[in-house]
Amino acid sequence: MELRTILKTPLGQLTRKLQVHPELHTGITYHCLSNQIIRDICVRGLVERNLPGYKDSFWRVVAQCTALLPEDKPRYVMGVGYPLDIVVCSALGADMYDCVYPTRTARFGTALVPEGLLKLKHKSMADDTRPIDPTCACMVCKNYTRAYIHCLVTKDAMGSQLLSYHNLYCMLPLQTKIIASFCEFCYIL
Ligand SMILES: [Zn+2]
Repeated sequence: MELRTILKTPLGQLTRKLQVHPELHTGITYHCLSNQIIRDICVRGLVERNLPGYKDSFWRVVAQCTALLPEDKPRYVMGVGYPLDIVVCSALGADMYDCVYPTRTARFGTALVPEGLLKLKHKSMADDTRPIDPTCACMVCKNYTRAYIHCLVTKDAMGSQLLSYHNLYCMLPLQTKIIASFCEFCYIL
């Protein structure tokens, strides 16, 4: 099937949707640029070319999309959440993200810390009375020790809930710093 034919379907659906629901022009509604078929074609094409890595290709796609989308409208990249991707995609013009990374990492018993990742399931955590991150001001780091969370993560859902709280709290300063850098015109990769 030709790419032109494949694209006709989702764009035609969007046109019909906007005709039926004109309020979508003014509401907070985001439209995806790709659908499953297009994504599959792109992924297959990348794999067939046997590239050394696919991160660079992903960033190129984001750059291509943000260059075409209007600057005065929010541009949202779905499924992006690794700190490096957020920094790079923000530099490329993306405004918003969503990702399971902080909460999924928490479910695996791992905390995000300035040095990288801290595995709370590790036996060395059993007697560690420090907070997850002594420099973190979140409710979890103020009230719970690594040893306490170590006990929880293997037995109780509350362990991953506490870690999720901390991990989400950790992501906020990154976004704040990116916005501040833009305001100071010093966003350099
Ligand atoms: Zn914390």
